[in-house]
Amino acid sequence: MRNLVIIGSGPAGYTAAIYTARANLNPLLVEGLQTGGQLSMTTDVENFPGFPEGIMGPDLMVAMKNQAARFGTDFLPGMVTEVDFSRRPFRLRTDDGEIEAKTVIICSGASARLIGIESERKLMGHGVSTCATCDGYFFRGKEIIVVGGGDSAMEEATFLTKFASKVTVVHRRDKLRASKIMQERAFKNPKIDFVWNTVVEEIYDVQGNNVKGVVLRNLKSNEVVDFKCDGVFIAIGHEPNTKIFQGQIEMDGNGYILTHDGTKTNVPGVFAAGDVQDHVYRQAVSAAGSGCMAAMDAERFMETSEH
Ligand code: NAP
Repeated sequence: MRNLVIIGSGPAGYTAAIYTARANLNPLLVEGLQTGGQLSMTTDVENFPGFPEGIMGPDLMVAMKNQAARFGTDFLPGMVTEVDFSRRPFRLRTDDGEIEAKTVIICSGASARLIGIESERKLMGHGVSTCATCDGYFFRGKEIIVVGGGDSAMEEATFLTKFASKVTVVHRRDKLRASKIMQERAFKNPKIDFVWNTVVEEIYDVQGNNVKGVVLRNLKSNEVVDFKCDGVFIAIGHEPNTKIFQGQIEMDGNGYILTHDGTKTNVPGVFAAGDVQDHVYRQAVSAAGSGCMAAMDAERFMETSEH
């Protein structure tokens, strides 16, 4: 039986762990598949306060983990695969077995959204990627496409020009969603081209197990063309990691957990922090801030429920 289980190891999860460990609650943090979360897959983080020269995402996450460990957080690698929040103590099934918990803080974050075609899934890691900073290096001197029209797509396209000989942004509309500054940076870059009103219908060559090109459809003219490239980076937003909480916790129509009065969910004793409940700000610092709030909310809940 644990006082508190924290699900997820991004800035929200680690911050919740630092606060609850310092409050002597001896939290258990279940790390998930990607220890350190989305920031462990980035390079420079220039907007986390306290680092005037910037810090590498993975370094920031290791520092947060060490800080949580210092005050007595226990860590469990792997996933929570099932939860039962219908009665207390709550029950969580993990890769390692079942855990009982008096309180839970959900910090399971969000994951990259995919186009939804089979070839994309089959070629993931074989020329298809959702993380330029992780995989850009493999595309030196190659031609690649980036799918999407938001800040992520502009950021990835610009970053990828460090490696690729040419980057083509494929966007489904004729206007970008990205902020002006990110748009301008991409428009100015001589290595970046744009293909408008267009979607990726197919990625090939699945049989050869690497990317040789894509089939593009123009949504205005319906014209279908073959486009040769060596890599496909998908940057079309994120989805909250909430599948295992369906039917257990109230969510909005997009699957983000609904919170009220700070980080409370509709189940007393279960709290949520970070990107899993925030589709607006989605920043490391705001995730960390809500992790702190969840820790304090959980601590107060335990105090009052024990009395
Ligand atoms: P986003 O703003 O939601 O943009 C997603 C883009 O992908 C949109 O252009 C959308 O097209 C397109 N899209 C969505 N589903 C698609 C599909 N199935 N097929 C083809 N295209 C699809 O997501 P994001 O770019 O990841 O940004 C998320 C948040 O993080 C934003 O608030 C952003 O400002 C922030 N962010 C900031 C920075 C930075 O400041 N350095 C960097 C990255 C992200 P439509 O435009 O037609 O909807």
